[in-house]
Amino acid sequence: MTALLSAKGLSRSFGGVHAVRDMGVEVREGSITGLIGPNGAGKSTLFNLLSGVIRPQSGTVVYNGEDITTLAPFRRARRGMIRTFQLSREFGRLTVLENLMLSPQMQLGERLWPLFSRPSAVARGDAAVYGRAEEVMEIAALTPLRDAYAADLSGGQKKLLELARTLMIDCDLILLDEPGAGVNPALMGTLTEMIHRLNADHGKTFLIVEHDMDLIGRLCNPVIVMTEGTFLTQGVFDTIRDDPRVIEAYLGG
Ligand code: ADP
Ligand code: MG
Repeated sequence: MTALLSAKGLSRSFGGVHAVRDMGVEVREGSITGLIGPNGAGKSTLFNLLSGVIRPQSGTVVYNGEDITTLAPFRRARRGMIRTFQLSREFGRLTVLENLMLSPQMQLGERLWPLFSRPSAVARGDAAVYGRAEEVMEIAALTPLRDAYAADLSGGQKKLLELARTLMIDCDLILLDEPGAGVNPALMGTLTEMIHRLNADHGKTFLIVEHDMDLIGRLCNPVIVMTEGTFLTQGVFDTIRDDPRVIEAYLGG
């Protein structure tokens, strides 16, 4: 197996809380890997460690064979690894198209001058970025909403936009933190289908934290289970679902 992303011995505590302790994870190239666990298990903290939002107190993160443990998030993005947040981070006063066109600068750590003169956000964008935005809107079923203000989108549409923003960058690995949270059942199908196509047709590798077991079961192999900040088990969804230790982790207090 070729691990695109591999982390070992990751630990991070906040005050006395061991949010993540001695956690390891491997994401196989070409996989859609799921990450589940009860609330407070440390999933978001692990994502923050993997994406560079926070630094581990111990452990290493290797991406594409390179140690990236201390790299800033935008440097990871430049190497092809990108993430979304549990809470969407769109700019409400910009349109869907403008949000997409700004995404490369945002994620890659460049200056955001267009934000200070809104109408120029699109006007100054170059043709390649515009063309890419049009492609991405097609992939994400956002074309009819291109001129809608992000603030006016539904929760599910914001999630689609959040995922679409990652596609503006030439990335290989996408970390999704609860892409299904707040998404209505109809859009959930669109979201699931979109992730599947990005994997199957566009070669994207995913690591997905999600509470919706239907989405996990349909898309993810393997599924990794975290509890109390650390690794519990991993495997195919049907095995994980029936594993007494997993059931106990969810039920236990
Ligand atoms: P999950 O995403 O699995 O629900 P989190 O990673 O958000 O879990 O949280 C794991 C634990 O770490 C929780 O007990 C949480 O309260 C704690 N925690 C996370 N981030 C912080 C922080 N910045 N400061 C203090 N405690 C935190
Ligand atoms: Mg979380």
